[in-house]
Amino acid sequence: MALEHLGSSLYQALRKVFKASVVDEATVKELVRDIQRALLQADVNVKLVLDISKRMEERALNEKVPPGVSRREHVVKVVYEELTRFLGEKSVPIKMEPGKRQVIMLVGIQGSGKTTQTAKLARYFQKRGFKPALICVDTYRPGAYAQLQQLAARINVPTYGDLKSKDPVKTAIEGLKQFPDKDIILIDTAGRHKEEQELIKEMKMLEKHIKPDEVMLVIDGTIGQQAMVQAKAFHEATPIGAILVTKLDGSARGGGALSAVAATGAPIKFVGTGEKIEDIEPFVPSRFVGRLLGMGDLETLLEKVHEAEIKVPEKKAKAILSGKFTLTDMYQQFEAVKGMGTFRKLLKMLPGMSYNIPEDMLNTAEDRLENWRVMIQSMTPSERDNPKIFNASRIRRVAKGSGTSDKEVKELLKQYMLMRRMFKTLRRKKKLPFFGKGMPLDFKQQ
Ligand code: GDP
Ligand code: MG
Repeated sequence: MALEHLGSSLYQALRKVFKASVVDEATVKELVRDIQRALLQADVNVKLVLDISKRMEERALNEKVPPGVSRREHVVKVVYEELTRFLGEKSVPIKMEPGKRQVIMLVGIQGSGKTTQTAKLARYFQKRGFKPALICVDTYRPGAYAQLQQLAARINVPTYGDLKSKDPVKTAIEGLKQFPDKDIILIDTAGRHKEEQELIKEMKMLEKHIKPDEVMLVIDGTIGQQAMVQAKAFHEATPIGAILVTKLDGSARGGGALSAVAATGAPIKFVGTGEKIEDIEPFVPSRFVGRLLGMGDLETLLEKVHEAEIKVPEKKAKAILSGKFTLTDMYQQFEAVKGMGTFRKLLKMLPGMSYNIPEDMLNTAEDRLENWRVMIQSMTPSERDNPKIFNASRIRRVAKGSGTSDKEVKELLKQYMLMRRMFKTLRRKKKLPFFGKGMPLDFKQQ
């Protein structure tokens, strides 16, 4: 869906925090700037963006980090919480009481997606064991009832409509009589309105006569922050109103629509995420933010942070620095990293070390990881442990065995040598205590 774009830019912003070797004021400021940019691109209102970024920065920099929690985790948690808060504090489910029939009326301007959502909601409740029925009171548009019938037939849900009627209230009341044994009745209305005020007027009239348990305003998410006007007028007009934002799949402005609606205080109950009848889901801000970021929830997000903070066993680190750095080590290190920046951390956590592997080298490694794996697998154990023995015929053999080229194998060996040399230089420069004695033979030979 189109919100994916917002999701991925937010995730990219957070990833920098995962990967940063230290999380300090500069990291937080950069994160906040990245988030601002991502939200503005999703058409979120400028004032809202400034609001949320101010709060994030304030909290991330000034809040006391509880014991046992790293600064990094805290920052990620603040971002998650603030994004959630910004989309509406809590979710508000539809109250379904056993034995009591719920009547939900859908209103909204033409083309917002009322008819489609009426069917989607029926499907949603049907799947959860309820018995829905649909009523069409769109007495203006010819073909409106047929559209609803068609959708309902696919999911086997009964419908009521009256093609001859010009009176939506009468049709609704007649319809309600038809389904005494159903437990959720969804009423699809007309909405020819171009303006909010007209829409509100008709909604009030219908509400007064039909007395639904809930009125749901369907808002087209592609209108972005314009949704504010509709949501506000609606929220002020009815105490039993909830909002359904549709077409979040179709537009990059969905973030703008959602946040604008949430800002009015009107509860968003469902979101429509596609044209198919299954494409609807209850709106739970915290879950939504988690999904937007590509994780389930805060827990999963924090797990990711933990992974990024993965500890490299000190023994291993020392072995590598003392010269015993084989191709297998290199591969394992890069695999453990898989984009998380652990390798950088490995270097940072070594005593006295503040060296960075050139970004280029890491990027190359991450791109070619899969190739490396098969090449290294095609090597003999002694080749892996002591790549110096490689000659042209060994290179050819590995290339053949792994379905790569001589050039690629040479490239891998070159990368290995580069890293090895780097470790060597580090050792000389830093004169770390454990380098002095017991240097492995193969290192001395170089
Ligand atoms: P109504 O005039 O308010 O009843 O709107 P309709 O239900 O007839 O929908 C108008 C158009 O929007 C139709 O082409 C639907 O297929 C489309 N639509 C509805 N919901 C969604 C959604 O969540 N995503 C997308 N992409 N299209 C939708
Ligand atoms: Mg319709």
